[in-house]
Amino acid sequence: MKIALISPKSAFLGRNAEFSTFLKRSPEMEFYRQYWSGLGSGLLVIGALTGKDVGIELIDENIEDIDFNRDYDLVAVTAMTQQANRAYEIARRFRERNIKVVLGGIHASILPDEAKLHLDSVVVGEAEELWPILLDDFRHNRLSAVYTSRREVDLRTSPIPKYELLEEKPYKIIWVQATRGCPHDCSFCCASRVYGSKYRHKSTNQIIEEIKKIRWIKKHAIIGFADDNLLCDKDYSRQLLEKIADLKIRWVGQSDISIAHDNSLLRLIKRSGCVALFIGFESILEDNLRDIDSSNWKLRHFKEYAANIRTIQSNGIGIIGTFIVGFDNDDNSAFDRLANFIIDNRLAGAQIAALTPFPHTRVREALSKEYRILDTPWDNYTLYDVNIKPKKMSSQELEEGILRTFKKVYSSGVAAEKSKYFGNIFFELHKKSK
Ligand code: SF4
Repeated sequence: MKIALISPKSAFLGRNAEFSTFLKRSPEMEFYRQYWSGLGSGLLVIGALTGKDVGIELIDENIEDIDFNRDYDLVAVTAMTQQANRAYEIARRFRERNIKVVLGGIHASILPDEAKLHLDSVVVGEAEELWPILLDDFRHNRLSAVYTSRREVDLRTSPIPKYELLEEKPYKIIWVQATRGCPHDCSFCCASRVYGSKYRHKSTNQIIEEIKKIRWIKKHAIIGFADDNLLCDKDYSRQLLEKIADLKIRWVGQSDISIAHDNSLLRLIKRSGCVALFIGFESILEDNLRDIDSSNWKLRHFKEYAANIRTIQSNGIGIIGTFIVGFDNDDNSAFDRLANFIIDNRLAGAQIAALTPFPHTRVREALSKEYRILDTPWDNYTLYDVNIKPKKMSSQELEEGILRTFKKVYSSGVAAEKSKYFGNIFFELHKKSK
C-alpha cells in the first residue's frame, strides 16, 4: 500500500505581488521567510501513525510538484484556510483517477460540511485518535464521509512525528509541537475552538526525544516550537527548558508577554538556546484590546508593553512582535504609530497582519452582521491580503498601509540601528542553520 501525504501550495507571503516581492528579496526578511516556509508536524504525525508496511511519500507543494499520474492507494491532505481551495483541486485531480482522498487540518475541522463536498473523507479534530480508525476502514473498503474526534488527545500518548520524511527537504527550521489548547478565546483566532480551552502538553522526555531525532536527521536545524504559547505553564516550561539547555540547540517559539515577570525563567529561556520569541501584542491602541480575549488579559497587560519588552530584551532574547491592523479603532494613522512602536522598542522583527475573518471566530460573526466581509476566496486568507471593509479606512488603504509598515521596519537603516544593541538574530539564525 502506498500513501501520499500532501501539504498544498499557498501564498504564505501574501498574494499582493509588490508585497511578496519585497518579502522574497529583502535580506532583512530572511528569517521571516525561513520561518514561514517550514512544514508543520501534522503530516509527520500521520506518518508515525501509519504502519511500517505502508509506503509514504511526503509532498510539500510549496517546494515540489505533485505528480498527479503517480499511483497511490490513498492521498491524505492537510490544509489551513488559505490552502483549502488548492486542497479541493488536488482532491479533484486524484479522484478523477478513482484514488481516494482525505482531508484533515484546521480548515476541515472548522468547516467539515464544506470540505466533504470535495473529499472522500474528512477528519475533524486531532489525528492521533482518528487516523488509525480511518486507515483500518480504508483497508476494509468502508471509508466514512466524516471522522470526528470524541475527546481531546492526551499528548503524552502522541507518537514521535516521522521526521525522517524531512530528510531530503531543504528546511532550516523544523517544527515541534509540544502543546495544544488555549484558555483565551481571542476574537480573531479559532485555536481554542479547534483544540479546546484546556492547555495540554507532551512530556518533557517526549520533546527531548523529538529534538534528538531532528538533530540526528538535520544536525544544524533550528527548532521551531509551533505552539501558540509554549511558555504558558511556567512549571512545565522550566522543566522543559532545563532539559533543552543540555542539548545545545537554537530555538524559536511563541509566548505571551507575562514571561517578563519571571527573571529566572528569562535567564533559563536564554540559556536553553532561545534566539527569538514571537510575542502577540495584537495592537498598540488600548481600545482595540478591549474584549479581544474573554478575560481581557491582553488589555490588562497593555500598559506594561514597553517595560516588559525591555526586560525580555535585556536578557538577550530577541522579540518578534505580532500585530494586527484593521480593528474598528484603526485609521490611517495606525501604520506610522505601529512602525514607530516597533522601531523605538527595537523589536528584532515584526509580523503585521490584516485583521482576517477566519471561519468560526468572533471577528467573523461581528463583521458578517455588518456586511463587512469581502467576497474573497479562501486563498486570500493569507494574513497579508485584505478580506474585510475596515471601519475607518478603505480595504486598499489597509493593504497598502501594511506593506508600507513592513518596508519601514525592515529597512536596512533600522536593521543597522537594532544590531548595535543586541546583534543580528537573523544573521545568527542563518549562520547556525548552514
Ligand atoms: S491568539 Fe493565541 S492566546 Fe489568543 S486564542 Fe489564539 S492561541 Fe490563544
